[in-house]
Amino acid sequence: MKFVLVLLSFAFVSNLLAQSKPTADLIIANANVWTVDKAHPTAQAVAVLGDRIIAVGLNADVEVLRSHDTKVIDAAGKLLLPGFNDAHVHFVGGGLQLDSVQLNDATSTAEFVRRIGEQAKKTPKGEWIQGGDWDETKWNSAGLPTRELVDPVTPDNPAFLGRYDGHSALANSAALRLAGITSKTPDPPGGTIVRDAQGNPTGDLKDAAKDIVLRVIPPLSHDQRLRAMRRALEYAASLGVTSVQHMNDEESDSFADIGAYGELLQSSELTTRVYVAPAISDWQNLAKIGIRHAFGSSFLRTGGLKGFADGSLGSGTAYLFDPYGDEPRNSGLLRNQMQPLSQMRDWMMQADAAGLQICTHAIGDRAISMILDLYTEVARAHPGIERRFRIEHAQHMAAKDFARFAQLGVIASVQPYQAIDDGRWAEARIGHDRASRTYAFRTFLNHGVHLAFGTDWDVAPLNPILTVYAAVTRATLDGKNPNGWFPEQKLSVAEAVEAYTMGSAYAEFQEKDKGSIAPGKLADMVLLSDDIFSIDPAKIRGVKVLKTIVGGRLVWDVDRKYKYSAAAN
Ligand SMILES: [Zn+2]
Repeated sequence: MKFVLVLLSFAFVSNLLAQSKPTADLIIANANVWTVDKAHPTAQAVAVLGDRIIAVGLNADVEVLRSHDTKVIDAAGKLLLPGFNDAHVHFVGGGLQLDSVQLNDATSTAEFVRRIGEQAKKTPKGEWIQGGDWDETKWNSAGLPTRELVDPVTPDNPAFLGRYDGHSALANSAALRLAGITSKTPDPPGGTIVRDAQGNPTGDLKDAAKDIVLRVIPPLSHDQRLRAMRRALEYAASLGVTSVQHMNDEESDSFADIGAYGELLQSSELTTRVYVAPAISDWQNLAKIGIRHAFGSSFLRTGGLKGFADGSLGSGTAYLFDPYGDEPRNSGLLRNQMQPLSQMRDWMMQADAAGLQICTHAIGDRAISMILDLYTEVARAHPGIERRFRIEHAQHMAAKDFARFAQLGVIASVQPYQAIDDGRWAEARIGHDRASRTYAFRTFLNHGVHLAFGTDWDVAPLNPILTVYAAVTRATLDGKNPNGWFPEQKLSVAEAVEAYTMGSAYAEFQEKDKGSIAPGKLADMVLLSDDIFSIDPAKIRGVKVLKTIVGGRLVWDVDRKYKYSAAAN
């Protein structure tokens, strides 16, 4: 009897002891942790309670938080980083693309046509064939592809296939017919209907001309949207992307997107954190219900706005001070939203006064300068407002504008993968001098500008490892610049990782909650197959993601090859 009492009281005391110190739900031990926390850059182990990190340190420091209920991941010495935060994605478009025809790596006209024909066979009669991301420069085409190529393999479907840069698209004859585009249709403002020698449309539509076709394509159904998001979420988890910043584009309905994300959040399917930036023309829809920047929960927020100043370099629509080197009469195009300029100014003024965050697509040096002018006016008009202006892409900079970025605190939201892609031909288009200030990440950092990294998926691959590789090596995809295209603009691995984590978190007002592995922060982490800090930079692009953890939940494990459901975790 006495013996039993002793046992009972011992159990009681140990229970009390257990309650007096916190125990972790999850411990990652034996890791090579790169924290992106300047005060403690490296560590061995991380402890998580609920969705937050509670301790970072040596194995022994964290071991004391272990109880018999703690799940332990032995990292076996692998590199653990904060989760990647992609500051610029088109997530629904990306998800749709995963199920649509892939043309980006087609290397001949025949291959381009064959893949479209195959997709047509899988698509019900009358349904639109979309997707593509074709890049005619990869098959040394004499020019843009035409509808005559595609018509024979798409007899029963309208087809509308986007160029990879999003600024041109190819319509087949059925699509042109449905859109009512004929030789008599005038070019819309801010767009071009490409025509042959007889004046007939070739099927290629640039910028605002694409809208004529987009208007007749039926909108995504709710189920199609959810399906695309689920595909995209699964893909993001497999790549270690734990946050995305979802940018409006003309083809998307951001409010329907927010609704669908909300549904996925409720069913615990949202495994990537999302910040949605609807169109700046819709600023009032957010402002009237009191939404300011970064409004929402840790998984789903809005309050950013996306505007467009110009087009892209590849399509010859990036708006430049001086003409294109290979097109002496072309200096690019301003987008509709900038015509008249007073319209964009009004939207920015009102959005800023409402506390919303402004993110503007600007690629050409003149478009970037014009947006900086507008930002200057807005900041002067509303002193004392906490704001973080952003310029999306910021590709071709005028020398004078780096300092202005810094003075205005404008975030350069950049996509390094495009440097190794466009780097194949950019110099031919804009010449050496302008190319030297193209994707000028080092110069931005030297000026004290905040960099945020992203991909612009589905314009470029979502895989963050490729972006880090691009920023560190600047080795163009054609293999012609193994030591880097404008190598003085290369970043170190640490700088690239910081831009992809803390930098992107700052760009969405989340640097206190995300971006580094530190006590109190959200437990978003990624375990890599190799140490990108010590391997040959040329090998970085082959590095794989072993595990992805979001809010303390394992959402990707390479050994299990599937996404963990909420129930399984
Ligand atoms: Zn974009």
